Amino acid sequence: MNDTTTPSTSPSPGRIMLVGLGPGSHEHLSARARAAIAEADTVIGYVTYIRLVADLLEGKEVIRKSMTEELDRAVEAFERARQGKRVALISSGDAGVYGMAGPTFEVLFQAGWTPDSGIEVEIIPGASAINTCAALVGAPLTHDFCAISLSDLLTPWPVIARRLEAAAFSDFVVALYNPKSGRRTRQIVEARRLFLRHRSPDTPVAIVKSAYRPKQRVEFTTLEKMTECDIGMLSTVLIGNASTFIRHGLMVTPRGYANKYDVDSGTTHDGEKPGRSLSSGLTGWLGEIHASGLGAAELARLHRLPEDYIAAVLAEPLEPLTEAAGEEAEA
Ligand code: SAH
Repeated sequence: MNDTTTPSTSPSPGRIMLVGLGPGSHEHLSARARAAIAEADTVIGYVTYIRLVADLLEGKEVIRKSMTEELDRAVEAFERARQGKRVALISSGDAGVYGMAGPTFEVLFQAGWTPDSGIEVEIIPGASAINTCAALVGAPLTHDFCAISLSDLLTPWPVIARRLEAAAFSDFVVALYNPKSGRRTRQIVEARRLFLRHRSPDTPVAIVKSAYRPKQRVEFTTLEKMTECDIGMLSTVLIGNASTFIRHGLMVTPRGYANKYDVDSGTTHDGEKPGRSLSSGLTGWLGEIHASGLGAAELARLHRLPEDYIAAVLAEPLEPLTEAAGEEAEA
């Protein structure tokens, strides 16, 4: 079809592709990530990431940048895209997880870019270190988890420390990104100190270095001993929650089936129903605190929740149980 409204001399619109490479092995590079690199005129990235995909770069303009030149990388990508080039900005793992996606949008917005200004931006997801490292150690993320970066290059230490404290207190499984470098050696020591305030010294910890790369190494240890281990720039530290265990070389966080079912027989414990919230789920818990006759202050201490939250909940009338509520999937 001949579109006469578009002059044939108009340059093709540029494109920025934020490509997550996954952990680094070609087997774990997604088909779309591979295609995006193939489509690109220019590939921009940190030296190590360029090296990971070196064999896919023939005939392309390749711009290698150092770790500290993130904003330059984004500016350069935008300039090339404005010239009508297709630019792949590559990150290890996922480009949106401690990667180039954020700084790129900041640079684009600063320059007045909008989603319909002609330059298209595509984000191509990749498996982040939290996923790939978890896969190498077992099933540590089967219950609530979070990621915390120990890098204080752009984040004040009190912010990082508060997040460590909150995650430790709330029993999240935690993946520590950027745990240690040549110059940043004390952060992991402080992280351990904060975690030990809330978790047992024998809490399982896995340290995964260079996942899915030739120098891959997995080490199991405990919260108490983790700082004695070899941890570096290419390591991710996975700290288990209060229920996480290690068996036969596998780190596992239970999903919670044992709270409801007898694991041997598959029958539910007294008072529990398949497909329904636990008896200590929200509805059951509300009934319990209302019936307890205890005040907000005592309940707050008992359940380790803020007193004003308990008071607000107690102030609301208890709704009658609705047996007609829909069934829920459990897995
Ligand atoms: N965008 C990346 C994270 C970049 S921050 C992602 O989504 O994975 C850099 C940190 O990521 C490292 O300090 C390390 O903690 C973690 N990391 C990245 N690749 C890794 C790998 N192959 N093995 C273990 N940890 C890795």
